[in-house]
Amino acid sequence: MPTALVLASRNAHKARELRALLAPWALEPLAPEVELPPETGETFAANAALKAVAAARASGRPAVADDSGIEAAALGGAPGVRSARFAGEDASDEDNLTKLLREIPSGGDRRVAYVCALAYADPGDDGPPRLFEARCEGTLAEHPRGQGGFGYDPAFLPAEIPDGRTMAELTAEEKDAISHRGGAARALAAWLRGRGGGA
Ligand code: IMP
Repeated sequence: MPTALVLASRNAHKARELRALLAPWALEPLAPEVELPPETGETFAANAALKAVAAARASGRPAVADDSGIEAAALGGAPGVRSARFAGEDASDEDNLTKLLREIPSGGDRRVAYVCALAYADPGDDGPPRLFEARCEGTLAEHPRGQGGFGYDPAFLPAEIPDGRTMAELTAEEKDAISHRGGAARALAAWLRGRGGGA
């Protein structure tokens, strides 16, 4: 029988997407008193692992963490793991997107990719957490468009969508089918099914 996993994230957008992607596993919110460790890792996988292990230890329950972001070819892969704080520690999604659009020259290399690492940690397991990673390739639009999704979605033109819509103009189901988070979540769900119905 599927059981519940603690979600080591307080990002409501990630939680909404992961709930749909990981059903029938239920995702429980992290208790408010649990402090997540700072994202000191240099890779998405390292940061996801830090968060999943901390949440599993604090809650005594199996936990899942998502670390994700956008890599721009013209910036040598930046902002990468610093995507959430690209324009400063307390930057909004809009601030970060505005900075990215400013830094990528109009006629330059506009290739971008989303990356998502999901980590699964069991409280009784001292070994490293399980990691599942996926990418979604695209290009950066000149101007933001669309109301769906979050973060950099209004300027992300997915390579797999040939009609020129940005990620923010897709339905939630269309985004899940091609996104970095969708790819990583499907790999995690397949692994959970393989080990016998969940934690
Ligand atoms: P973190 O994983 O909490 O460090 O932050 C991830 C950041 O990457 C978010 O704040 C967004 O700016 C960006 N990001 C991750 N996934 C997506 C996505 O699916 N769409 C748009 N932006 C994303």
